[in-house]
Amino acid sequence: MSISPLKLQTILPPVYKGFISSKIMSLDVTETKATCDNCLRARDRRFSFTYKKELKCCTFHPYLTNYAIGALLEQDEIQQQSTGAHQGISKNQGIQKIRNKIAEREFAFPIGMMAPFDYQYAFLTKSDDQFGNDENLLCPYYNRGQNRCDIWMFRGVVCTSFYCRSDYGQDGQKFWAVFSDYLSYVEMALAEECLVQMGFSPRDISDQLEFLNKREFEAEETEQKQISPAIDKSLWIGYDDKISFYKKCFAIVKNLDRNQFKEILGPQGLSLEKEVVEYANRRKN
Ligand code: SF4
Ligand code: SF4
Repeated sequence: MSISPLKLQTILPPVYKGFISSKIMSLDVTETKATCDNCLRARDRRFSFTYKKELKCCTFHPYLTNYAIGALLEQDEIQQQSTGAHQGISKNQGIQKIRNKIAEREFAFPIGMMAPFDYQYAFLTKSDDQFGNDENLLCPYYNRGQNRCDIWMFRGVVCTSFYCRSDYGQDGQKFWAVFSDYLSYVEMALAEECLVQMGFSPRDISDQLEFLNKREFEAEETEQKQISPAIDKSLWIGYDDKISFYKKCFAIVKNLDRNQFKEILGPQGLSLEKEVVEYANRRKN
């Protein structure tokens, strides 16, 4: 029996459907070798080391954009309303973690949510074989009971574009790397656009970016899980209701059309968009 092709749009957050080029959205991204439900890397001994099947490649704490957080919170509220559940407490453990991180100033910024410094330090200094094996590195949004991602629909670029093996070999891996560059660019451009529309200055934005992908840590930062109330207050420039802020970011992105998106991406982003299609076509040769 032949397998029907998997279009790229089915693995992307639905919010992008309104404005990412249809040439990209309709690309065939069928990958049959990276069998995530029965993780290939937990059983294929041709890799230099295997992963634990209950951790897979989710020993990673992704950055989530402000609009993805807004989408998850909005979706969760709709779900709560439809079931008559208690407002503000999520049945989805991953989304509840997001709520807790917001409440506890755990690196929840206007630009999005990122790994706290203690995690960033542990991840940066890990040995290769800790990836896939060290449960201290497990993603906060991973559902251990069900062995799957709790926020799959709005997971970020790294999670969307990582395939431990491709049906197209090196060409396939190159395609995913180019796609990852493009989607990272899109995520950052849109998250920043939300901030501009919400009144943040370029300086306010760069102050937040300093917390993402830090490379050097002071001793106390290697254990830091939260942002101090004073720094948090200055980074949020007066926004008190963070949940409603994130939902507004989602509304901004949801309402973009293709022309507005192209303007936000600019020439560099549009050239990355072309490269994605180009590398997808090379993959077929
Ligand atoms: S991509 Fe990740 S979950 Fe999927 S098979 Fe590979 S290691 Fe396992
Ligand atoms: S967000 Fe989901 S896919 Fe990504 S690392 Fe976490 S659990 Fe895995």
